[in-house]
Order: sequence, then C-alpha cells, then structure tokens
Amino acid sequence: MPTLASHPDEVKVLSRRFGLGAANIDKYLELDGYKAAQKAIAEGPEWIINTMKASGLRGRGGAGFPTGMKWSFVPKVSEKPKYILVNGDESEPGTCKDHLIFREDPHSIIEGAMIAGLSVGAKMGFIYLRGEYRYLLNIMEKAVADAYARGFLGKNIFGNQGVDFDVITQTGAGAYEVGEESALMESLEGKRGVPRIRPPFPAVVGLYGGPTIINNAETIANAPHILLMGGEAYAKLGTERNGGTRLFGISGHVERPGVYELPMGYSLRKAIYDVAGGIRGGKQLKAVVPGGASCPVLRADEIDVGLDFDQMAKAGTMLGSGGIVVLDETVSIVEFALRTIRFYQHESCGWCIPCREGTDWIKKTLTRFHAGGGMKKDIDNVQYIAENMLGRTFCPLGDAAAMPTLGFVKKFRSEFEEYLNGVRVASPLIKITPSGAKEHAGAH
Ligand code: SF4
Repeated sequence: MPTLASHPDEVKVLSRRFGLGAANIDKYLELDGYKAAQKAIAEGPEWIINTMKASGLRGRGGAGFPTGMKWSFVPKVSEKPKYILVNGDESEPGTCKDHLIFREDPHSIIEGAMIAGLSVGAKMGFIYLRGEYRYLLNIMEKAVADAYARGFLGKNIFGNQGVDFDVITQTGAGAYEVGEESALMESLEGKRGVPRIRPPFPAVVGLYGGPTIINNAETIANAPHILLMGGEAYAKLGTERNGGTRLFGISGHVERPGVYELPMGYSLRKAIYDVAGGIRGGKQLKAVVPGGASCPVLRADEIDVGLDFDQMAKAGTMLGSGGIVVLDETVSIVEFALRTIRFYQHESCGWCIPCREGTDWIKKTLTRFHAGGGMKKDIDNVQYIAENMLGRTFCPLGDAAAMPTLGFVKKFRSEFEEYLNGVRVASPLIKITPSGAKEHAGAH
C-alpha cells in the first residue's frame, strides 16, 4: 500500500487534495472541485485543447506522448460515438501512484475525464481499474454516484442544456497486458485482452469502433488543475518539453519510501538521497530501476540525471511510469533479473512468438543459472535472446521484458560471472520442487 509521503521539495499540484478527505464530494467542492469542468464548458473545446497543449503535459502512463496533441487527433465529426477511457490498470512493478489518486481524489479523475470529453465531444467515459484494485472500486463508484446525484454527470451537466457526460467504472481481471491501450479496449469490450493492430489508432477507431481518448489516470487527473492554473503556469513547473510535476513512487532500499510529487526534471540523485532519505541502514547504492520494471537499470554512478522523459532517454533509460526502485549493495542483480523476467514471462499474453518464447527461454536460463547450474554461454545467450526480442513483438511488452534484461547483463556482467566461479551463490529462496526441479520461492 503506497504511503502519503511528504517533503519540502515537493510541488503539490495533483496531490494537493491528498489526505484532506477529498473523496467526499463536499470536501472536493470546497477545494475548487468541478470548477475546471464548468470553466471548460464556458470556454469550449478549442480553449481546452490549447490549454492542455500549452501545459506541456505528457502522458504519465509511460509513453510520454503530449496529451493536448493526443486530444487534438480526435476527429471533430464522427458517425460513431466518441469515448474517453481512463487507464487505471496500474500493473507495472514498482509503480504505485495511481492508487493514491483513486483513493484520495477520485473526483479529479471524473472531472478530468469530463474535461477530456468536453474537448472532443465525447459523452461517455469509462474508468478502468486494475482487477486487484477492487478495494478502490467502492470509492470510485461512490464518487460517481455522488456526482450524478449533484447533476454533475448525466444529462445537462451543471445545468447546461445539451451538455451530457456519463461515467462507467469497470475492473479488469488482473492482466498486466491490459495496461496496453488497445488490449484495454479489447478487455473493456468483453474480449480477451490482447493488443490490436495499429493503425488505425484509438483516436480514430477505438472503443466499440468510435474515436477514443485513452489516458493514464494521473494524466487525466492533471487536467482540472491545468485548466484552473493555466497551461503556461503548469508548464513552467517542469522543464522544456516536459511540463509540470509528476508523482514518483520511490520504493526499495530507501529510508522513506513513498509517493512524492516532484517537478519534472528533478534530480534522480536528490529524489533518492534527499526526498526518500537515502539508502536504508547506511548501505551503499548499487542500482536504480528508474521508471517501473521495464526500464533499463542505472548503476549507482549514473544517477546524476533529471527526471524527465528526455533526460532519461539521453541516459539510456526511460522515465516510464515514475516507479523508482532503489537497490542497495546487498541485492543480487542476477536474482533481480530473474524476478523481473518471471513477471514478464507470466504476463506475456502469448500472442507473438518473440515475447512468448523469448521470456520463457530467458526465465528458464536464468532460473538454472541462478540456482548454480550456469554455463559461460548462458550470459551471451540471454543477451542474444533479449536483443532479438527488441522491436520484434506485437506490443511493447516484448521490449519491456527485453530492455531491463539487457541492462542487467550489460551493466552487471561481472556479477553474472561471479555465479559461474562460485563467488556468488543462490539465495535461500531457492527450493526444490517435488519433481526435483529447482524453483524460486515466491515465484508465479
Ligand atoms: Fe502478447 Fe507479448 Fe506479443 Fe505483447 S509482445 S502481444 S504481450 S506476446
């Protein structure tokens, strides 16, 4: 469960209502709730999209696509209904920020979806929650019911004739793959959650064949704040091409793990050592996974980098979902690589061969390797398999599995070699299954 953390360097825009009881609609209204939506109705679609463009907000789910531009891709005229789809399928290991928005400020998601709807002429929004977030569904459904009861949702919202917006909440069945936008649409339509061929892109042909905006929950929840404070003011909080602030979930071996809202471009080193209090127990930092499990790892000497999409790309990794996982000197990178690939192998939907087979081969190789049965050629084989998955899969999950694997092997090769020469051995988490096979305790 993510904690409500706090640090003086935080710039609280999105999280400014956290901890204040804003799930209650009266409290939300007291804290400027639903003012942005009413302003959006008064100003109109062009103003909304221009404001979002000026804000420099980029998608907070991981891809970092400019939000205002995404909204502007939706055709003005469509024979089919248009939809807004809020992606709350937060499943990336190390990522724990959307929980908090749903729990602490659910109306901001409703209001954000409404604003997105007003910008493109969509009258229906879906809020898709990760299956394991069932406990948040009650909070979200109560917020939706309260908004309907006040006339903020449904027909003629806020008393404006002909302005309609409905919201439906939905939970998934716990598949990581469904976080991918086209698989999410398939799932929501009641089908197996596998990705669709693109083009066409969802902005043109999306949910039920209609033009659809799909945004991560954090992205959507930013919209009301941006409309109230102004696009330029929001942009100024961050760096060039990376407007605003972001929720960063800092976990692992730090003194003060938690979710912190920091300006885009904030130093990764400061995030670890100042904001999160440094490495737990005075130990040394070994590595950082900076944006969720799919991001290539950074070594301890690579953390002098700003937390925005461009600076992280320059550093050879990604900002991803903002889940910063900190590993101290006690961590076995081989074991960490194994745990990571086990996740991706388990979550691969099996649709395409490089991902389905590649994740399985790497998992099997690393399982044997980690258990002490490694051969020298295994290290090169793992690298070779991962390299041949990159860019050859149907959806980004294949890359998401290959990229961290490559990072571990390339940057910590000597540690892999230590398993071969007996300097390192498997942790006691290894167990022997009834069939005699060595298995990793706690594995899927
Ligand atoms: Fe499925 Fe993996 Fe292929 Fe994505 S890359 S479609 S998850 S098998």
